[in-house]
Amino acid sequence: MQRSLAQLARWMGLNPEPAWEKLPVERLLLDSRQYHPGVASLFFALRGAHHDGHDYIAALEALGLRYFVCEERPEKAAPDSIFLVLDSSLKALQNLARGLRQDYPHPLIAITGSNGKTIVKEWLWQVLHRELNLWRSPKSYNSQVGVPLSLWGLEARHELGIFEAGISQPGEMSRLESILQPEGGIFTNIGSAHGQNFASLEAKIAEKLKLFRACRYLVYQKDGSQLAQYIEAWAADKPLRLLSWSRSDPSAELFAERLKPTQMRWHWQGESGLLSLPFSEDEAWENALHVFRLALALGQKAPDIAPAFAQLSPVEMRLEMKEGQGDSLIINDSYNSDLESLRLALHFLETHGKGRPLWLILSTMRDLPSPPAVLHQATSQLLQSLPLEQLISIGPHYQRYPLPKDTQQVHFASTEDFLAALERFDFSGKAVLLKGAREFRFERIAARLEQKRHQSVLEIQLNRLVDNLNYYREKLAPGVKIMAMVKAFAYGSGSVEVARVLQFHGVHYLGVAYADEGVSLRKAGIQVPIMVLNHEEDSWQRLIAYNLEPEIYNLRGLEAFATALTDQGYEGAYPIHIKLETGMNRLGFSASQIPALLARLADLAVLRVSSVFSHLAAADKRSEDPFSRQQIARFEAASSQLIAALDYPVQRHLCNSSGIEHFPAAHYEMVRLGIGLYGISSDPEARKHLQTVSRLKARISQVKQLAARETVSYGRLFRAERPMRIGIVSLGYADGFRRSLSEGRGKVVIQGQRFPTLGAVCMDMFMIDLKDSDIAEGAEVEIFGDQLSLYELAENMGTIPYEVLTGISQRVKRIYLMS
Ligand SMILES: *Cc1c(COP(=O)(O)O)cnc(C)c1O
Repeated sequence: MQRSLAQLARWMGLNPEPAWEKLPVERLLLDSRQYHPGVASLFFALRGAHHDGHDYIAALEALGLRYFVCEERPEKAAPDSIFLVLDSSLKALQNLARGLRQDYPHPLIAITGSNGKTIVKEWLWQVLHRELNLWRSPKSYNSQVGVPLSLWGLEARHELGIFEAGISQPGEMSRLESILQPEGGIFTNIGSAHGQNFASLEAKIAEKLKLFRACRYLVYQKDGSQLAQYIEAWAADKPLRLLSWSRSDPSAELFAERLKPTQMRWHWQGESGLLSLPFSEDEAWENALHVFRLALALGQKAPDIAPAFAQLSPVEMRLEMKEGQGDSLIINDSYNSDLESLRLALHFLETHGKGRPLWLILSTMRDLPSPPAVLHQATSQLLQSLPLEQLISIGPHYQRYPLPKDTQQVHFASTEDFLAALERFDFSGKAVLLKGAREFRFERIAARLEQKRHQSVLEIQLNRLVDNLNYYREKLAPGVKIMAMVKAFAYGSGSVEVARVLQFHGVHYLGVAYADEGVSLRKAGIQVPIMVLNHEEDSWQRLIAYNLEPEIYNLRGLEAFATALTDQGYEGAYPIHIKLETGMNRLGFSASQIPALLARLADLAVLRVSSVFSHLAAADKRSEDPFSRQQIARFEAASSQLIAALDYPVQRHLCNSSGIEHFPAAHYEMVRLGIGLYGISSDPEARKHLQTVSRLKARISQVKQLAARETVSYGRLFRAERPMRIGIVSLGYADGFRRSLSEGRGKVVIQGQRFPTLGAVCMDMFMIDLKDSDIAEGAEVEIFGDQLSLYELAENMGTIPYEVLTGISQRVKRIYLMS
């Protein structure tokens, strides 16, 4: 896609200079890290709560970028840079997008709703792309900036554009509507929470409906929900046609009757036929029926499109990182192959592959935003940005990438050819990124490289971790630092992987429980300061050798550490963290010991107090707020005494996750964020915004038919009263699924249905009652995740989420995902 700078300027309401007519722009850029030198880009300096795009202008100029939209002209600039100065860079971007839309001669479809937007969009594409030349917005670009960006790729040759629209505040939908001006729409569904920015669920629905203000038709599910009633009332005085479908009302325009979990019979205009899906979940059916109804609205014939539904593939917008054979690391990202996702994946490879040789298996690039030559050049530049040991390229048109000569390059014409030659390569110890356009089906390569499929895995969604981090960041005043607690294997999620992401996202400090945990982080290349909560005397040398900073909580520790430093001939002042006792009655100096502490510190020049801190005992308990306030007051008094006596600045920190939520006045210079990062909180408001980062899943290893009076498991605690089907699940108390979950106290979810445990939980497995379901061997079992919450599991176990997370044993494989 290419347009002249003059045209873009006109759309933004500016009067362009004549010379701009000849300046092509190939790309819009919001994130300076996504700049590919050589691709003519227009950078929008946006101002947000936490960063200001204007800060990156100079760095981009140094890399050769010349076109900027900004709110203020920088004082110093390259003589040939062009600045389009406007009141709001965001509004300018949106106005530009409106221009792009008006330039496009065909209709657009817009999708909104709480869930399923991206899947519906991708499935529409999967079902229709053979019939129509379609454009769909990339990934889940659905925001105030995502929608404008996604219009860039739309061209006149596309017969239809499909876009998603998401909002978080009143007023946003009207703007998206005025940009997209859709002709038809889909309202997928509405969740039960209205979020903090809307007064009620109705207010949120009303805002979302603004997207369809001028539409000719709208697809929705009829089935008696509050949403359906609301849509029908809203549409009553509008010319728009409501296109509904139903699974319960045979008189509906499109009626779908479930025959099997994966099959339905559709009834439409006097005809009927079968529709099969490779999925059985209710949500999958809801998404599929929206797609079906919309395709009919576009004039497709039901019997023609129905077969495509059996071939729908899951929408994997996420990158997956797993252990591979021979201690390799396999990173699989096959959502699409545009430059942007390649850049992100390479960054991921570099971050997580640190210390290993880096390999890349790359298919021919697709989803072209630019002409092939430009694409090839930009790809080469990206590939040069990291030290690859081996590049394996796959695809029919081979063009060598100009890479450093110590990068090995080989090429295969197809994935099949490569698979046939796979044995020639030694992947052990390597970090391997698989980056292939969907049609190359790189999952076949991944399957060969990965270790055997694990029965039980803990999936960790790193992007959710980042979202949670940002949620807490918003609660902090500017300048307040975050120490992220990654003790106990990062609450079970994997210290190194979590720490790498946190380091990249600018966390200031990390907190671990033991020196060994800190040492593994350092060995993995983590450079941010690390505080160690507990120390054994024999670990001092390791602390110092790895530049880890101890918590000091008594005079004995203070002396011992100072001696260790002096013995080692340490020169300088080593940072330590003084722990104060304020009511937890765990570790810490009490107020009465402070004079003695100060007296010793005055003599020990080898130590420098980097921070002073304490810990709240009951920040998550509203009934204990008076006690927490008392702790704050004690901390205030004791820390002030300490700070006053020291002649250098000392940071203070007191709040853990729930402290951050409830005691904004006690954030001081830093906070210590733990469980909240992983998406867990006791606060109902925070829960609405946080997302549980991990999901534990197992498999049904066997299905068994029991006769009446047979018993199940150790101690014969369960006896069948009548013939029944049971499933054996591949997880036991040695994995962290406690024995207290025996005899129906534990529940699991399979294909959207809940099943209780039967009899006693064993060390490596447990049994469930499959009731009259048709669940088969190999089915995936969710232990906790989006369908069965970690809160519920913890409650069934009689404990708290902290203990469940940290109790998942190391033998359960961790898989990391990033969307
Ligand atoms: C674990 C820990 C935290 C984090 O607590 P959360 O409740 O998980 O946020 C903070 N400070 C100290 C000293 C800790 O040990």
